Amino acid sequence: MFQRVSHTDFRLYRTIPKCSIRFRSSTLLNTREVFAGTTQRLASIGPQITAQFLIATNRTLISLTESKMQKVMLDLLPAELDLDALGHEMHALVAELYPICRSITGNGVRETLGRLRSFIPLALHEVPSGTRVFDWTVPLEWNIRDAYIKNSKGERVVDFQKSNLHVVSHSMPVHKKMRLEELRPHLYTLPDHPDWIPYRTSYYKRDWGFCLGHKQLLDLKEDEYEVCIESSLEKGHLTYGELYLQGESSDEVLISAHICHPSLANDNLSGVAVACFLAKHISQLPRRYSYRFLFAPGTIGAITWLSINESNARQIKHGLVLAGVGDAGPLTYKKSRRENAEIDRAAAIAICEAAPNSKSLEFSPYGYDERQYCSPGFNLAVGRLSRTPHGTFPEYHTSADNVSFVHPRSLGESLSVCIAVASILERNRTYVNTNPMCEPQLGERNLYHSVGGGADNKANELAMLWVLNLSDGKHSLLEIAERSQLKFDVVARAASGLKEHGLLEEIPAQSQLI
Ligand SMILES: [Zn+2]
Repeated sequence: MFQRVSHTDFRLYRTIPKCSIRFRSSTLLNTREVFAGTTQRLASIGPQITAQFLIATNRTLISLTESKMQKVMLDLLPAELDLDALGHEMHALVAELYPICRSITGNGVRETLGRLRSFIPLALHEVPSGTRVFDWTVPLEWNIRDAYIKNSKGERVVDFQKSNLHVVSHSMPVHKKMRLEELRPHLYTLPDHPDWIPYRTSYYKRDWGFCLGHKQLLDLKEDEYEVCIESSLEKGHLTYGELYLQGESSDEVLISAHICHPSLANDNLSGVAVACFLAKHISQLPRRYSYRFLFAPGTIGAITWLSINESNARQIKHGLVLAGVGDAGPLTYKKSRRENAEIDRAAAIAICEAAPNSKSLEFSPYGYDERQYCSPGFNLAVGRLSRTPHGTFPEYHTSADNVSFVHPRSLGESLSVCIAVASILERNRTYVNTNPMCEPQLGERNLYHSVGGGADNKANELAMLWVLNLSDGKHSLLEIAERSQLKFDVVARAASGLKEHGLLEEIPAQSQLI
């Protein structure tokens, strides 16, 4: 399936958001040259985009200085994005991926990753069944062609072709006739929501089953039924997709989305769509950090990646799991196990600035793949962005988590918050005031009214005073924003202006620059 993907299949910029115009043609040239578009095997190294950009006119490689990078990041704030259009594009991607029957292994994941490769140049990795990954083992590969329950008239009363949720994921093959009484223990319904089909799995127990609406169950008469699941559970591979975008530093930001649920839109596909569009956006920007995007089956996929990349994982300085980011509920950020990591504080500021009804949750060892990234042996600074937390809305893990449960506007807002978090991480610096003996004369340097403008002048002046006062080499811009309760962007712009006038000197980051 992957082998069919050729260079000409790349449609990385098939739709161009407003923000991408500046570097569009140059980046396209660059990525086409860099990415080979082939399936990558276990432990292969994913493609890389460097922080250097080909300038379209003369194709000269220019290494971006820090000040240039700051300026570009400032120019590409979420407010300038057409979030409405991007929200609809992400929603269309959710709708496109929705019918595919995904599980933790199998062709559904491959097909999904293949579709994502028309947006971003993912490297695909295949890890053989039976591979030991910490305390776990990569399971057999599951694939399914068809499944049904037929009554004695030959009518399909439960039909996999109508909804892939009708089959318990990872069901072993079965084909036999049985009475309703024998069939009943293999049927799952939701009596409280009689029209909805539940989502059930049996990954680690050899079993089979069907899920159906409770009304459908009540309609089943005493009869002899033909029960068929045309599935296979064989030695194969676990598949995951990865995109590595190299920045000036080898320090990484991880963005992770699970990709193992069948027709469920908010749970899995919303995170996949936002991560995909975030990757597309960040790939077009100069960046201090390197970014790693991981699209892997939940739990076993993250465990597998961490097992294969145990030492590389130490490069991850900040991370976000994206899950359930498309419903109409308020933005919710779940803190990393460290609870006060830079990502926790950047995300708290970003969600508050985006929506006053957003909320932060403390870390708990229950949830999505943050459980693995935050396991004590790794203890990575990885939090989770969601909207309504999983398990707290009735549509969760049912057929009601469908394409209409996910909204373009919510997807757009979630994307903008992810970009805002990245923007804060990119611009967060620690400075020393070069003129600490009383206040410097800002008026003489034309700094009053020179940063920003109009109604924001008061905030800009306040921000300069806060930055000058707290820039003693111990307080980062993020801390100054928290303490002053000014917007991070206002604080960062003030610092940028002060630095240009020689009033601030940056404390070099400890991290190694490439
Ligand atoms: Zn789920």
